[in-house]
Amino acid sequence: MSLPLLPDRDCGGCVECCRVIPLDLPELAKPTGQLCAYCVDGAGCSVHAIRPQTCRTWFCLWRVVELSDDWRPDRSGVIVRPDGIDRGEITLFVVRRTDFLASEAFFTTAALWLAEGMELALSVPGPVGTYPCRAVVTDWLRPAVEDGDWPGFIARVEASLDRLADHDWQPDGIVARYEVA
Ligand code: SF4
Ligand code: SF4
Repeated sequence: MSLPLLPDRDCGGCVECCRVIPLDLPELAKPTGQLCAYCVDGAGCSVHAIRPQTCRTWFCLWRVVELSDDWRPDRSGVIVRPDGIDRGEITLFVVRRTDFLASEAFFTTAALWLAEGMELALSVPGPVGTYPCRAVVTDWLRPAVEDGDWPGFIARVEASLDRLADHDWQPDGIVARYEVA
């Protein structure tokens, strides 16, 4: 799915999707969590003009919706995934735990999404080369949100992430192949 991008926003130094998203294409295969060999960390794609179509069309929702700069994935540690949004689901892929997860910006935005009737899911990556895990947490977070209980919300998010981190990780079976030419 390709969503219209905000005109005045670019990825800057963020390269999180070039690390965490798996690719299994004829010309480029990289396991989940492996920084693409064509990516210059903190700078971006070194084969930008000839990058695969998937790379041209996959964008996190920070590039699509008006979220504050704090939400940029390399700053927040949170990639808001685009898949599922057409079904009213928002998946917060927490690639790194940061102070942002305890911030008011995170709490108020999650509360807004819940008030709009969205389903919220949390997801975390496993070791390189394994599938991430994900759990819908809408009903788990709702009581804290409806009570305006910010500390309680933080505690529930942390408990969810702890539980997800105990997942039995499964290999994605992708063997790295870099043949973009
Ligand atoms: S080819 Fe470029 S855009 Fe695609 S994953 Fe690699 S560095 Fe990122
Ligand atoms: S995760 Fe989002 S902001 Fe970061 S590089 Fe990918 S599309 Fe750009």
